[in-house]
Amino acid sequence: MANQTVETGSPAAARGSSPQDSPPSGPGRSLAYLQDVSVERVRNIGPRLAGMLAKSGVRSVADLLQHFPHRYLDRSLVVPIPELPIDGEATLIAEVVSTYRPRVSGRRGPREMLKVTVQDSHLGGPGSDPGLGGIQRMEITFFNQPFRGRQLLPGTVAAFSGKVTTFRGRPQMTNPDVELISSDEESFEGRVVPVHSAVGEMTPVRIRSAVGNALRRARPILDPVPRSVLETWDFMDRDQAFANIHFPKSMDHAREARRRLVFDELFRIQVALALTRHRLVEEQEGISQQLECQLVTDFLDGLPYDLTGAQKRVLAEIGEDLESGRPMHRLLQGEVGSGKTVVALAALLAAVGSGNQGAIMAPTEVLAEQLYLVLREMLSQAGLSPPVARPQVGGHHMGSLFQAAGGVTVRVALLTSSRAAANYLDAPGRSRVREDVAAGEAQIVVGTHSLIQEGIRFRRLGVVVVDEQHRFGVSQRSTLKHKGSDRQPDLLIMTATPIPRTLSMTLYGDLVLSTIDQMPPGRSPVKTSVIEKTSEGLSTAYRAIRTEVAKGRQAFVICPLIEDSEKLEVQSVTSQYREITSVLPDLTIDLMHGQLSSADKEAVMARFRSGETDVLVSTTVIEVGIDIPNATVMVITDAQRFGLSQLHQLRGRVGRGRHAGRCLLVADSTTPDSTRRMKAMARTTDGLELAREDLRIRGQGAVFGARQSGMGDLKLADILRDLSAMKRAKRAADDLVRSDPYLRRQPLLAEEIAEVLGDDVQWLFDS
Ligand code: ADP
Ligand code: MG
Repeated sequence: MANQTVETGSPAAARGSSPQDSPPSGPGRSLAYLQDVSVERVRNIGPRLAGMLAKSGVRSVADLLQHFPHRYLDRSLVVPIPELPIDGEATLIAEVVSTYRPRVSGRRGPREMLKVTVQDSHLGGPGSDPGLGGIQRMEITFFNQPFRGRQLLPGTVAAFSGKVTTFRGRPQMTNPDVELISSDEESFEGRVVPVHSAVGEMTPVRIRSAVGNALRRARPILDPVPRSVLETWDFMDRDQAFANIHFPKSMDHAREARRRLVFDELFRIQVALALTRHRLVEEQEGISQQLECQLVTDFLDGLPYDLTGAQKRVLAEIGEDLESGRPMHRLLQGEVGSGKTVVALAALLAAVGSGNQGAIMAPTEVLAEQLYLVLREMLSQAGLSPPVARPQVGGHHMGSLFQAAGGVTVRVALLTSSRAAANYLDAPGRSRVREDVAAGEAQIVVGTHSLIQEGIRFRRLGVVVVDEQHRFGVSQRSTLKHKGSDRQPDLLIMTATPIPRTLSMTLYGDLVLSTIDQMPPGRSPVKTSVIEKTSEGLSTAYRAIRTEVAKGRQAFVICPLIEDSEKLEVQSVTSQYREITSVLPDLTIDLMHGQLSSADKEAVMARFRSGETDVLVSTTVIEVGIDIPNATVMVITDAQRFGLSQLHQLRGRVGRGRHAGRCLLVADSTTPDSTRRMKAMARTTDGLELAREDLRIRGQGAVFGARQSGMGDLKLADILRDLSAMKRAKRAADDLVRSDPYLRRQPLLAEEIAEVLGDDVQWLFDS
């Protein structure tokens, strides 16, 4: 058994730095190179196992080397059998001597019982060597775990963790956690035992052995991180880090290795983001525009309220960017209802005041239409609306004739793939609006992403605002160039989805952040209750609606999300609409869903906005951006189907005015996760707290994926915990890119970023 140790390769790797066992000499291999070497090249992995591993995402040697242990057993802390603390928790490393299955039938029916006799193993650490006292044995009992019989064959060494009890004066354990350390064919002698998780049919022990083999073949692993960075943060080099994270000499080594490799994951991303920022900002000619102009002043003076301190601060930050000769590249974060739209409009007006155009894009057509109405309304409050002209057939632009007659006005147009409108024209066609955009007649253009993607031409695009958009990725940001100017317009991205700082540094790391961290005065948090989906529960909800409507307020009823079937969703919202109409026959109730025509959607919204409708029964088409200050109740049916961030967005539609809001979540809490989500919603209205809870419930993989971060997955770094590592990585990346913006002196790093982060960063390396 002992002479097979070398075969597993692991102890060799653990002692990687010792002279008798140094890593293979030679030029070494980069992670990017290992990314292209199939796992099949690893000893003892044939085509069949390789196929099985590939299904779990382990295709290359690099993948295998990044299958990190999820925990370690520190043998120096393991207790031998004679010293086990009776009635305490302990971990014992022992070898299976024999197993047997007594016949039992408990009072509650037959139970599957397995008794395993174990003895201290020489692998269990110094204290467990069978010394003068002879070999100590004890019995471990498992109930209803028949697979243990196959797993714990005689000769197997495993760690057993659990509570120690006594039976007839001898220690015993019942249903402890089991971590296999070795079986007959393989053994392991390191002091700290890494525990890798199984992959498919490969047990933790076999995976560990495969990792050991892979490491021996791969080392030395080249280090792409500049020496100066390693010295600044006192990091071990990458080769050592890979050896020590898998086969550490001590727990300290494991921790240091992790610290180093966490940095690497974050550093890659931060360098990619710093390069992005360099390409999109530092290398670009921007447009200098003035926030301090008559138009913006008139607009702000015309508002029925004063800006909050936070709005003023953020506006000043934006003002500096607008003025500078470099393009603005900024993220505006602020809770739902914190007043981002006003700030955005001021930025758009700065473009107009400087002789340029502004564009604002919403994620959906409904929202674009709504945004158009809000902007039109805000401008007219400030006396900035132009008179409306009938469009002339034949392309004569009448709008500008009227402008001379009145004072200063601002021409706003809506342009989506199905609709066109303008505040200075009565029912213009799409082609007319497109022409006006190209001619610069339309000064502010509202639309969806298609504004940028469909190649709509602008005359002089100065400011672009992207509202409520988490998926406006880096590649889209890079297409903003050449929209009617040889200069890069100023870009402001707005989001109401608060995300933990580490995550936003990853998703939006190329953007500078402004935060509106204060709500307009007089808002009180929306009171949220979870009610069961029973007839009493529902009548509570209907009562709440009736009470608020009696006070002159309005209500939303949101129907369940039905994945992948808009048709079913429409059926469900329609039947909900019928039910509410019959329960509340004296109220005016309207219906909204994604299959209505644009004109119908706009009509429905207009009726609700004007107060004509009391209750709006809707699908999630109203999820973000809808602003009806008089709406105070939100009933969400089948709330358990929604994710936390969606629920938070939906809830943000009420309590936006002077009146307090209520949110009723009608839920069948079918899974523990959905119960947790409902509880979190009832407990807090703090979006950041909800975002953290969401991460905890779903795990960062899911959250990352859903947001299409495009920045590779993080295997070691933890989005909630590794903020300081992220800050370090960002600082190092910024310094590096400032001095070497094309990574000319860092070819290994460039290669690794291109290889690991893939398609999303490809454009950085083209040309
Ligand atoms: P967001 O886009 O951040 O969710 P909005 O810009 O839609 O928020 O603003 C929410 C509501 O608050 C709107 O009705 C808006 O008119 C109002 N509002 C914005 N700023 C203020 C302020 N400083 N004082 C009072 N009300 C405000
Ligand atoms: Mg908004």
